[in-house]
Amino acid sequence: MLANKTALITGSTSGIGLGIAKSLARQGANIVLNGFGDVEGPKAEIAALGVKVAYHGADMSKASDIEDMMSFAAVQFGQVDILVNNAGIQHVARIESFPIDRWDAIIAINLSSAFHATRLALPTMQARNWGRIINVASVHGLVGSAEKSAYVAAKHGVVGLTKVTALENATSGVTCNAICPGWVLTPLVQKQVDAKAAALGISNEDAKKQLLGEKEPSMQFTTPEELGELAVFFCSPAGANVRGVAWNMDGGWVAQ
Ligand code: NAD
Repeated sequence: MLANKTALITGSTSGIGLGIAKSLARQGANIVLNGFGDVEGPKAEIAALGVKVAYHGADMSKASDIEDMMSFAAVQFGQVDILVNNAGIQHVARIESFPIDRWDAIIAINLSSAFHATRLALPTMQARNWGRIINVASVHGLVGSAEKSAYVAAKHGVVGLTKVTALENATSGVTCNAICPGWVLTPLVQKQVDAKAAALGISNEDAKKQLLGEKEPSMQFTTPEELGELAVFFCSPAGANVRGVAWNMDGGWVAQ
């Protein structure tokens, strides 16, 4: 379905971004990966799906790096047809003790990076009258949780940016939508599981159950594969008039 299309997924060396990259690759899209840590493993996983893969190590907190990455993608594959703004970090603390540098980093990586990549991707998408921008927000783009001020502010911002991007392109073949996962067991959440296990002196398994029990009625983690299939739907012909939604995949979290 996505042969001859190019998808750039930020923060795709791990977790949800890598899951979405694999789902899009299975549909035939060429992939531009981005993110830190192991690069060769994810590149090999994508190449094994029979598509072309490239990698750019842009630090998503830096506008100039994002400009380099978008130019690199155009040189490698001609254009970016599908942009998935996924890179994100977390920090957990009450507002009165929230470190200022963590606030700034979360706003830059989780929110401003989506603005920069979007503004750079749009002109080519508009010229070709086809494009898909998928913002990985969170249930925290829809509801709050204590001790996550920067993250919740950034994710609500991402949902707002999604609506405006969708509206500004509403009469074209360019759509923009957000995916709002509940708990997904990636390295980002494993850190929160480890912190809970240490704080309460309980096992990792019990900490996972507690985490789910507080928020997610299904008592199951959403998986990167499930989120990847939602991204595929947004890219499919049936998704052509889905514009500006913030679609939660959260085991019932925000239904409560
Ligand atoms: P993860 O830690 O597994 O992956 C994050 C990715 O972002 C990695 O590839 C990492 O290298 C990259 N990254 C981090 N800082 C970066 C930077 N400055 N520049 C470039 N890349 C950077 O986390 P994840 O859980 O897969 O999170 C992916 C997205 O999903 C995030 O936006 C997160 O907020 C969102 N999300 C996660 C969950 C969850 O439960 N895991 C729930 C809702 C939303």
